[in-house]
Amino acid sequence: MDVVRSISEMQVMRNAVEGQKCSIGFVPTMGTLHEGHLSLIRSARDECDKLIVSIFVNPMQFDREDDLAAYPQQLETDIDIVKKEKVDVVFAPCKEEIYPEGFCTRVELKKLTENLCGKRRPGHFEGVATIITKLFNIVKPDRAYLGQKDYQQYIIIKRLVQDLNMGIDIKLLPTVRDKDGLALSSRNRHLSAEERIKARCLYEALLKAKSLVRDNQREVEKIKSEMEGIILHVRDAKIDYISIVDSDTLIEKTEVSGDTIAAVAVWIGSTRLIDNIVIDT
Ligand code: AMP
Repeated sequence: MDVVRSISEMQVMRNAVEGQKCSIGFVPTMGTLHEGHLSLIRSARDECDKLIVSIFVNPMQFDREDDLAAYPQQLETDIDIVKKEKVDVVFAPCKEEIYPEGFCTRVELKKLTENLCGKRRPGHFEGVATIITKLFNIVKPDRAYLGQKDYQQYIIIKRLVQDLNMGIDIKLLPTVRDKDGLALSSRNRHLSAEERIKARCLYEALLKAKSLVRDNQREVEKIKSEMEGIILHVRDAKIDYISIVDSDTLIEKTEVSGDTIAAVAVWIGSTRLIDNIVIDT
């Protein structure tokens, strides 16, 4: 496995297989890898001839300095983890390599960034779209693998690829959860033992929404209020948002019918967690 720190070296490696009948799979990550990341890596490994994983904590997508400073990083451990997964190349550039002096381009999407996390974290998806555009231009993958856990990010990247004719197949894989339902996330490390138990309320609220819809409750306000009840029951849990949206447009619904996602962002102490599930198809 090669560990590549520079863009030029990554491009040389990528271009060496250009023209060969060889599919390139790509898994972009911010590191501190867990089973969620590994499920993407394993699918990509199964489906592609070459597999490139990037590890880069992208400063541009953080809306708070303290959040960026506290984001966990463990490059050496991550490299050991991916070695076991038969990854071909780990691309792990430093901040200055990606954003050299004078860098001033931003990739901005309208509409899809107006709801959910886009509304709550100004500039976040501009940062995501900019780094993904750069990584896709450098790595030139045939397929990229993303997780449902960051559903809005997936919808935005799919749109970006379509709008800018990048010709990359975007694959979505299900959210990997702990036994009690909490979605795996690098941020879970910030939770104390007590907070870790409290964090179960996100998935519980989402499951409640799903079961209400199964029982034919279609009124979004009623569903949201039940979800709210579950979360607010937990001391120190603060709702950032509860949204029920169309799975393609991410527009808020008033009635559940057809493809619908319930999504939540909740502060557990000083850690902000997100999760979502499909509640109707
Ligand atoms: P991150 O390192 O948090 O930027 O995530 C990198 C990729 O892993 C994104 O496509 C995420 O959606 C995906 N991912 C993160 N957590 C999970 C999870 N629990 N299950 C599945 N995919 C995940």
